[in-house]
Amino acid sequence: MNPNQDNNNKNGKPQGGLNIFHFLIAGFIITFILNMVFSSMSSNRKVQIEYSQFIALVESGSVKQVQLEPEQILITLNTDADRESTDEILNITTPDVDDEKLKERMERWNEQIRQNNVYYTGRVDDPGLTQRLIDNNVAFYQPIVQSNPILDFIMSWILPIAILYIIYFFFIRSMSKRMGGEGGMGGIGGMMGVGKSNAKVYNVEKNTGVTFADVAGQDEAKESLDEMVDFLHNPEKYQKIGAKQPKGALLVGPPGTGKTLLAKAVAGEAGVPFFSLSGSEFVEMFVGVGASRVRDLFQQASKKAPCIVFIDEIDAIGKSRDNQIGGNDEREQTLNQLLAEMDGFDSSKGIVVLAATNRPEVLDKALLRPGRFDRRVIVEKPDLPGREAILGVHAAKVTLAPDVNLREIALATSGATGADLANMVNEAALRAVRMDRFSVTQEDLMEAVELVIAGKEKKDRILNPREKRMVAYHEVGHALTTALQKDGQPVQKITIVPRTMGSLGYTMNMPEEERYLMTKAELLAQITTLLAGRAAEEIEFGESSTGASNDIERATKMARSMVTQYGMSDKFDMMSLESTQNQYLDGRNVATCSEATGALIDDEVRAIIKACHEKARGLLEENKEKMSEIAEFLIEKETITGAQFMDILNDSDKLPA
Ligand code: ADP
Ligand code: MG
Ligand code: ZN
Repeated sequence: MNPNQDNNNKNGKPQGGLNIFHFLIAGFIITFILNMVFSSMSSNRKVQIEYSQFIALVESGSVKQVQLEPEQILITLNTDADRESTDEILNITTPDVDDEKLKERMERWNEQIRQNNVYYTGRVDDPGLTQRLIDNNVAFYQPIVQSNPILDFIMSWILPIAILYIIYFFFIRSMSKRMGGEGGMGGIGGMMGVGKSNAKVYNVEKNTGVTFADVAGQDEAKESLDEMVDFLHNPEKYQKIGAKQPKGALLVGPPGTGKTLLAKAVAGEAGVPFFSLSGSEFVEMFVGVGASRVRDLFQQASKKAPCIVFIDEIDAIGKSRDNQIGGNDEREQTLNQLLAEMDGFDSSKGIVVLAATNRPEVLDKALLRPGRFDRRVIVEKPDLPGREAILGVHAAKVTLAPDVNLREIALATSGATGADLANMVNEAALRAVRMDRFSVTQEDLMEAVELVIAGKEKKDRILNPREKRMVAYHEVGHALTTALQKDGQPVQKITIVPRTMGSLGYTMNMPEEERYLMTKAELLAQITTLLAGRAAEEIEFGESSTGASNDIERATKMARSMVTQYGMSDKFDMMSLESTQNQYLDGRNVATCSEATGALIDDEVRAIIKACHEKARGLLEENKEKMSEIAEFLIEKETITGAQFMDILNDSDKLPA
């Protein structure tokens, strides 16, 4: 047994969450319920009658046999006896009805009652009973062992609890195996010890092999972490002056931006071991497991110091402890343990705790106070140079054709995270292999970008000719309005090949540069572009299709943000009406205004949408011929490039081949 299991239960709380007492109570309750259910089920067909009825039955010869128990008499009726007298005594009536069928049914019903019911009556002090039974030819007996209270008790109480225990025991066993427990648990001691299982769930890497060079972009984050690396290299330098190093840093940012990678890079740069563990792995079913894992982790870490302890997805345990109904005991204990460990270890030894989260706002304040995760390293989605650099890092691992222009790819992938970009490069390489090529071309990369953004081409989904026309006009509507508005972005590609992620067609725009600010005019131009797909359908077919739902959603979201967050409406001026939650995840907006104002916001949003829709219609009406021309070309080719598109737009006489 591990010695530290016994002595470091610091706060005196019981560690085994599910101990034998809990188990006994639960087992007792379950057994009690089972007993209730069974006894009510078997007494269903028992019918109690009066003693006088019993006597009358005996006298009329309707009783075949009785069982004389100390408390009661169980009666078995004589099936060949005279029905009428039996029925009369037992109040079984067959009403006189004319309907023959109904009567027959009722009789059958009564017969069932007679056969299925067990009649009984309480014992009455009746010395003449025995004689009466003999006189009427009733078989009677008194069972010798009618019931053994001890056996009964064992059968209905001890046995079920024992069975439950066995089930529970095997359940625990398999659970602890899945948790990676070391060997099985023995008997009761094993069960009691579950809470303290020291199953190692964390990873230790002696050398992560990742350096800052592998993390592209993220220069600010690297800068803040540089100091930690230096500290891990030579802690003495800091001790001499008396400077205390921060114990921990919190890496905050959207998923896939390279938080885990950065943490590894810190360890790699410093050349120290990397202990990592995901927050969700701490929290198990059993109270106390998480806490003991935290303890174990820090114990091992302090042996290997200097080192880095990395807790991924820390929000799984570090959630703010208030604002939950009931709370979560296990998580709270784990968190407390983590706080205690962070206070406890001596930072001069050279342990740095890094944690990552994409929901910093839910973290408990206690985690963020000085001395714990007081440093925040923001890991944002990469900007244009950042994306180019990340593409460079990953493209270096594959063979590139000379035509590859990573900047162009970076431009087309605004909003993509590092993980997305890594994925795109890999998809491009896979495509190159599929096409039997030895290097990755620009086309592969562009296809991969589309693949990640819009899903795989779905060539087997056949649109009927009318649908195809509609999709083509819809997409050309988008593309044409973009080109016609001065604040629009150039078109890269239009396609009407359906994609797996649901889109039937697709217009890809390519900004000429990365934008950090958007003007009101540009936002309106974008909304107009989004609504132009539907506008084109209306103009060409006098009809609307369901294909515009995503456009509508995005346009409405933009228009709403203009009103509620960007202060771009006349009515509300610069009033803030919504705030963003979970900014690193879905970025949901929550209204901060009254409901009455909410209705007015809706009016404003509607006005913007309406104006943009009309503008899109106007633009397309004016250029109806161009629209038809491009759309027909698109229907024929299914995919056209931005250059082909511009050719038709600028010179209608000369169709590109
Ligand atoms: P997070 O932990 O923020 O969710 P990860 O660190 O797990 O993201 O990143 C996933 C993958 O994405 C990494 O393994 C790496 O291949 C790639 N990646 C993310 N950001 C970068 C970056 N800045 N430079 C290079 N690769 C990156
Ligand atoms: Mg991660
Ligand atoms: Zn559309």
